[in-house]
Amino acid sequence: MSRIGQWFSIPAMVACCVLLSCERDETPIVAEPSQLPSSEKQEPLHTEDFSAVRAYEHCAALCALGPRPTGSDAYRKQVEMINSQLTAIGWHVQSIIFSPPSLPRQRMQNLCATFGEANTPRELVLSCHIDTKGSGENAILGADDGASGAAVLLELARVLTLQPDLARRIELVFFDGEESFGPHITPQDGLFGSRHEVQRRIGCLPRYLINLDMVGGAGKTIAVPLLDTTEDMMEQYLNALHTLGLPETRWTILPGSMLDDHRPFAEAGVHTLNLIASFCRSTWWHTKADNMDRISHESLGETGRMVLQLLRQIL
Ligand SMILES: [Zn+2]
Repeated sequence: MSRIGQWFSIPAMVACCVLLSCERDETPIVAEPSQLPSSEKQEPLHTEDFSAVRAYEHCAALCALGPRPTGSDAYRKQVEMINSQLTAIGWHVQSIIFSPPSLPRQRMQNLCATFGEANTPRELVLSCHIDTKGSGENAILGADDGASGAAVLLELARVLTLQPDLARRIELVFFDGEESFGPHITPQDGLFGSRHEVQRRIGCLPRYLINLDMVGGAGKTIAVPLLDTTEDMMEQYLNALHTLGLPETRWTILPGSMLDDHRPFAEAGVHTLNLIASFCRSTWWHTKADNMDRISHESLGETGRMVLQLLRQIL
């Protein structure tokens, strides 16, 4: 039995989250590569082009705005910061303003960035959430759970401009509303931004999505949720680990499912890979301890190289 087969034979266990039932009636259409912008054969990306120093600076700059819960002034400033940085290096940024159906008075804002011609479907989405947990006195800084994914995406955006044809096949999406208003994400509370993007893209969904969440903590252990991951994406993940020589003790597979922003896409038929750090037994998660003290250059750099290696393999 192959390594992949061994993983897929594991009895279904749900770790700390529950399966989300499909909320839609439509059968989504996933864009085939032949419908998407073609790419000239070119030099592959170099994983070493990812600068952990630049990613760390992005993380620190986002955190300098303070906690960034949905609807806050700091969230608005963060959106302006991401928008201006991407625009400056040639990405076209679209602001998607929406209200979740269950919260018609709540204004939320996703950011979607494409390189080159806008409004054509991209083959692969790289995503993260940029809202942080809590509000008022309970608001947390979210250095890892909020800023780290965006920091890696911003540095990846720079590296991708070195390969314009490849960049044109990728979309960067920054989700609002990942965090729930209640204590935990449920089928009704949280993942508002990703759910909205799936609804908005019915008929032109990407083929692949790689989502980053809590990817900058020192000594992190990544736990890819097995039950949400297609076999091809799991194989890509394991191959990338092998190529980069990353330890399987820290880049692991969770034998279960995870409620995170990849889930609405996975349920719509997109091949997803959710790179998320193990957090269930942590002492820092959703607390004031989630600050820049726990972010490391090494951790951000590892994540960036992993994503670049995945892009080399998949596209
Ligand atoms: Zn969170």
